[in-house]
Amino acid sequence: MIVVMQVGASEAQIEAVIATLNDHGFDVHRSSGSERSVLGAVGVKPEFDPRHLQLLDGVSNVHRVTEPFKFASKAWKSEPTKVNVAGVTIGGDEVIVMAGPCSVESEEQIHESAKAVAAAGAKILRGGAFKPRSSPYAFQGLGEAGLVMMKDAAKAHGLAVVTEIMDPSQADLMLKYADMLQIGARNMQNYPLLRVAGKTGLPVLLKRGLSATISEWLMSAEYILAEDNPNVVLCERGIRTFENATRNTLDLSAVPVVKAKSHLPVVVDPSHGTGIRNKVLPMARAGVAAGADGLMIEVHPNPEEALSDGPQSLHFPQFVEMMEQVRQIARAVGRTVG
Ligand code: PEP
Ligand code: MN
Repeated sequence: MIVVMQVGASEAQIEAVIATLNDHGFDVHRSSGSERSVLGAVGVKPEFDPRHLQLLDGVSNVHRVTEPFKFASKAWKSEPTKVNVAGVTIGGDEVIVMAGPCSVESEEQIHESAKAVAAAGAKILRGGAFKPRSSPYAFQGLGEAGLVMMKDAAKAHGLAVVTEIMDPSQADLMLKYADMLQIGARNMQNYPLLRVAGKTGLPVLLKRGLSATISEWLMSAEYILAEDNPNVVLCERGIRTFENATRNTLDLSAVPVVKAKSHLPVVVDPSHGTGIRNKVLPMARAGVAAGADGLMIEVHPNPEEALSDGPQSLHFPQFVEMMEQVRQIARAVGRTVG
């Protein structure tokens, strides 16, 4: 941390800042220029709140130079993390595609979806049985019945299962049916849920919150990692900005930014990121080009009839076309797609 003192700060003020830093366990290096002094505080204290210093007399500003997260940081672990989801590795050379409907709706719908996405090269079946809907009157998901259907469909087509956990009370159900837990954007900062997801030991797909900074997102990952669960995959799914031509703004720069700060794999979700079917394919290509370790894609046998997110769900032939195109992009950046 760097503390820049105001021009003309008194010796007593500078000494008070040094004393505060020492009290919090920092070593202090002082540099006194002709106009002002700068204090370098050495020590990694992620829990320290820099506002303690900002409030002191004579302080101009305070800059953090280390990240507030620890286990998620590259400083802690420099080599990329590989997350094993029922035998599927996320974070290796292969770009892993997770695909399926927004919600599990029926036996037939989820089986048809599993068959189509597996044939096109997806490795993980997605689908929600507990749905976080903006309206309490919208379809809320089939609950356990949906999980049973999903597990059967995935098994029949050699896929792993990722599904959303919305409440800590659902952990036991998830352990029965899921290979990977999804924490939805709306729950990114639901700390009790993050802790419970961490405790299950299952791999966790942590979606970025609608208005979360990258640092906040990594702090949420830290909650899971701090439960001794190293299997966290981040998912960029678009954030809320002033732009309203798309449902969200897919922040693809998050991919290289996260990769510079963290060892965790990153997946891109262009379905929620754009919210409209004809924008999904180009942004899927772009996600792979940006270095994503995976894609999450919504598909549906009959999107016009879908109970949730139909307009952003691909028809099966569009999914096949997307897979062909991302395969070419992956090759160009030294990766493969199943
Ligand atoms: C979903 O994956 O269907 C979903 C609700 O995603 P998000 O939490 O990103 O909105
Ligand atoms: Mn959805």
